[in-house]
Amino acid sequence: MPQLRLILGLCLISLLVSCQSSRYPQGRSVYGDRPGPQAFTTVIVDAGHGGRDSGARARGLVEKQLALDVAKRVRSELWPSFKVVMMRDSDYFVELDNRVNIANRYGNSILVSIHFNYGARRRAGPETYYWRSDSYALARRVQQNLSAVAPYESGNAGLVRRRLRLTRNPALPCILVECGYLTNANEAKLVATSSYRERLAEAIAKAIRDQSQYGDAGMGPIPRPIYAPPSKATDARD
Ligand SMILES: [Zn+2]
Repeated sequence: MPQLRLILGLCLISLLVSCQSSRYPQGRSVYGDRPGPQAFTTVIVDAGHGGRDSGARARGLVEKQLALDVAKRVRSELWPSFKVVMMRDSDYFVELDNRVNIANRYGNSILVSIHFNYGARRRAGPETYYWRSDSYALARRVQQNLSAVAPYESGNAGLVRRRLRLTRNPALPCILVECGYLTNANEAKLVATSSYRERLAEAIAKAIRDQSQYGDAGMGPIPRPIYAPPSKATDARD
């Protein structure tokens, strides 16, 4: 059956070609099926929500304002050691798919999206979301550092692998950080203070610096890649 062999051979070649073309230039990767980043030069800081999208509102706190405040503090911590790109630097909305497109313009970069959480009153503590293998160690470092800062943790999900538009779709290492629950009385009281938000920002910035210096070292086995299609608006909350 030489014809069958030829067909199988062609299939194999096209498979290999499609794997190659799933990689962008400048070290980018569609699926993130590679080790985590090291010695990166650019950090894209995404303050969640903005403008008409206030995000969570609870206990007199507004997520979009807190996210921007922490994002600016992260920028201050990182610059000038890194080039810092702010997805938004004031109160306006950027569509999620646009955030992805903007992030994809920057080579040798990572994306960190900053949010605050909303849920049952007893829930407290940080959560960090990742999807790609190349984003796991960064997510774990951020979650560890935030956990060390947060005095209240209860019923939170911790480090979570979830396919969101900002954890799956950018072609660069990307994570989404929920810095704490606005719905929890104790945590909300802390989040309302600038000194606590500064500590949150320091924790995130230290994780980013450590990732750039050490790569995945010390972060244990990296989870296998999952070859899933891009996340759409209809998928899950993000
Ligand atoms: Zn949010």
